[in-house]
Amino acid sequence: MSCTANGVADAVRAAAAVLAEHRAELIELDRAIGDGDHGENMNRGFTAILSALDSAVPDSPSAVLKLVATTLIAKVGGAAGPLYGTAFLRASTAVGGASELDSDAVVAGLRAALEGVQARGKAVEGDKTMVDALIPAVAAAEQAAGTEGADVAAVLTAAADAAGKGAESTVDLVARKGRASYLGQRSAGHLDPGARSTALLLGALARAAR
Ligand code: ADP
Ligand code: MG
Ligand code: MG
Repeated sequence: MSCTANGVADAVRAAAAVLAEHRAELIELDRAIGDGDHGENMNRGFTAILSALDSAVPDSPSAVLKLVATTLIAKVGGAAGPLYGTAFLRASTAVGGASELDSDAVVAGLRAALEGVQARGKAVEGDKTMVDALIPAVAAAEQAAGTEGADVAAVLTAAADAAGKGAESTVDLVARKGRASYLGQRSAGHLDPGARSTALLLGALARAAR
């Protein structure tokens, strides 16, 4: 895949399909330590994004990411809607106006997404949130692009693999942000749903890029 507007739109469609497939799993994870709506929230948001992309694919990668952001902000409530919305909005700005993204732009987008989530939600590493998937994802993407000169697919693959491990690491953590924090110690022993959805999303983008 080339990282043009159409390529990014196809990757977003692939992410929508994966989130739809994992809807029940994300609901189950959120039922254990939250209010059980995360799978539905993500599926509703990405279904609306599919409709928007069906009407018209915006004319740059940045504009596609902005459409994703505004749709998530409009259609998804709770914690995840504004957080993912901010992530895609910051990424949209960070990738710039190029008609095709290179690996440096993708890394810049990922870093900006993380910074946006942290600016908005104030979570740090270890708080048992999507940040625990995003921090290692950004570090792995930077490492891949910087020292190994990886292409976009390799950068996203490194990010997705690290996000998966980061998500797994949330099992042992006690939540300090979001609904799960209301449970205190009882939140330990469960995978964080937002960290899982971040890993799923990045995994889908990486596969689409290969
Ligand atoms: P809600 O908790 O409002 O029902 P969701 O269930 O859709 O929203 O999303 C829950 C996920 O949002 C959590 O699993 C966690 O990863 C993420 N989250 C919640 N609060 C924060 C925060 N302050 N910073 C980062 N991520 C957060
Ligand atoms: Mg929830
Ligand atoms: Mg909710």
